[in-house]
This record gives sequence, C-alpha cells and structure tokens, in this order.
Amino acid sequence: MPRPRRSLREILAAGERTFSFEFFPPKSDAGERKLWRTIRRVEALAPTFVSVTYGAGGSSRDRTVSITERILAETTLRPVAHLTAVGHSTAELRRIVGRFADAGIQDVLALRGDPPGDPRGEWVPHPEGPRYAAELVRLLKSAGSFTVGVAAFPERHPRSPDWESDIRHFVAKCRAGADFAVTQMFFRVEDYLRLRDRVAAAGCDTPIIPEIMPATGFDQIRRFAELSNATFPADLARRLEAARDRPEDGHRIGVEHATAMGARLLAEGAPGLHYITLNSSSAAVEIHRNLVPGRTPSLLTAA
Ligand code: FAD
Repeated sequence: MPRPRRSLREILAAGERTFSFEFFPPKSDAGERKLWRTIRRVEALAPTFVSVTYGAGGSSRDRTVSITERILAETTLRPVAHLTAVGHSTAELRRIVGRFADAGIQDVLALRGDPPGDPRGEWVPHPEGPRYAAELVRLLKSAGSFTVGVAAFPERHPRSPDWESDIRHFVAKCRAGADFAVTQMFFRVEDYLRLRDRVAAAGCDTPIIPEIMPATGFDQIRRFAELSNATFPADLARRLEAARDRPEDGHRIGVEHATAMGARLLAEGAPGLHYITLNSSSAAVEIHRNLVPGRTPSLLTAA
C-alpha cells in the first residue's frame, strides 16, 4: 500500500524548502491545451505544489475548481486551490469548500479578493459573506483539515493606511489558522526581507513564501506591476524597454533578474519560491533550473 503523503502543513512545519508554480484558469480550449502542456512540463520537476487562481466571477470560477480537481485526479501534483470571498455568501463558500473536500483537495489559498472590474474600486462584501480573508481562513479551518495559505504584501496591501495596521491584520490572519503565506509579486528583495522582519517582530513565524514573477516583457510587466502596486525598478524597466523589439533579449533579462532574486531570497533563508507561470512554462522552468541544476538538494533541505 502506498504511504499516505505528508500534508503541506507538515512539510512547511518541518522547515523544508518548497517550490511551486501558479496557473490561472484559461478562457479557451486552446488556452486549456497550453495549460496542460505546461502542467505536464512542471510535473516532471516534482514541485512541492502548484496553485490555480480563482477568477473574478462566473465560469472561470468553475474552471478553477474543475482544473484543480483534474490536477489532483490525473497528475502526481499537489494542487492548491485559490478561493476568494468576492460575491460569495458564507453559505456559498461552505458549498465550494465542501466540493474541495469531496474531491480530496486539501490545500487552499484563502483570499479576500478585489472588486471585479476595477481592482482599485470600492470593496463591497456580499451582505452575507466574509469581509476579510481572516474569516475565510476560519471557515476553512472549521470545515476540515485543510492546509490554508494567505496573501502577504512586501510593499504592504494597497488598501492598508500604514504598516502598523497592515502587519497587525496579517498576523491576525495567521492566528486565525493560516499555515503559510505567499507574497504578492515584487521586484526588490529588500521589500520581502523588510516584510519578513516586521512580521517576525510582531511575534509571528508563519512561513512567507516569496512569489517570483519573471519580468520578461516591458509592457506586460508594467501593467502587472501597476495592478499589483509593485515597484518596477527603474534600471530593470529601462533594460526591458530597450529590448522591447527583441523578445528573446527581454526573456533573457527577465530570467536573469528573477534568477538573481531567487538566489538571494534562498540565501536569505526564504522558505521556498512560488513561480508565476502565466500558463507558459518556459521562463519559470528556466529560472528554477538555474537555481537547482539537476534538482540538487540545496532547495529541498531546511531553510
Ligand atoms: P485581507 O487579508 O482581508 O486584507 C485586505 C485589506 O484589509 C488589507 O489592507 C488589510 O490590512 C485590511 N484588513 C484585514 N483585516 C482587517 C480588519 N479586521 N479590520 C480592518 N482592516 C482589515 N485575487 C483573486 O481574485 N484571485 C486569486 O486567485 C488571487 N490570488 C492571489 C494570490 C496571491 C499570492 C496574492 C498575494 C494575491 C492574490 N489575489 C487574488 C489578489 C488578492 O485577492 C487581493 O490582493 C486582495 O486585495 C487581498 O486580499 P487579502 O486576502 O490579503 O485580504
């Protein structure tokens, strides 16, 4: 009989380094085929987990759940389902969480989500739904033995008026039961280190996994950085802008920058790395291979 595999919570609690990849639910059949090619390529690297983002509404949300279920059923990967509170009552969230449990999904990233349409618009909770991610963490913890992750913000959450409240609410989310956190994208290692120090100073030791966004194209990354409020360093922006008409140079610059960031983050003791793939494996896999050539134990041993 195969040994039951350890939970993500146990892996993290043991201080083992994780590496993971993030996908989003595609809108078309062609997008779905591309995603599955990427999933198969990533599977060969045996990551600790992969995650699937939760759409802003409608059918993309069903696709998040069905892709997560299919990853669990048809691959050797451990899928983490993202779930947001946007537009959901607590009763609806309980039903989705029940579906996760029925499918055998054990790992969920609990997020409040942003207002659909304009992420910077006014956040209006469902009248019978959670107001903050901490409530979703509590719901998941009361519904089963889920390993629960939450979001962390190296440049603080755009809606937080100051660092003091940002850290206080983050720590409250961890104390509500979060087992780990994954950061928003960022491009300066110091932002991650300062966040980690602030959280530690508040007495919280929840592992915070840095997210790595390969900045391979000027226009796309500038848009993402704007949406996520991440500072896009001027020198990196200049180099990418100069390579605008030479995509292969943009790719190389982005991979080099992300590899250097990843190496420094690991050297500084980050508990793992979470790569954004945008459903295309090339940059994320290249960065990962640069950091762990031949999958040496360096990334897999204690942080
Ligand atoms: P919360 O923790 O609820 O915090 C939101 C704001 O409220 C913060 O300013 C916080 O300080 C404040 N706050 C918290 N509690 C209180 C309180 N009790 N009183 C007053 N203020 C409080 N979005 C999607 O739609 N789908 C996804 O799949 C998705 N995946 C993501 C993955 C990662 C790794 C990250 C970092 C973000 C992701 N997002 C996703 C975006 C995320 O939903 C938004 O950034 C959202 O604005 C933040 O949600 P949160 O879970 O951090 O919210």
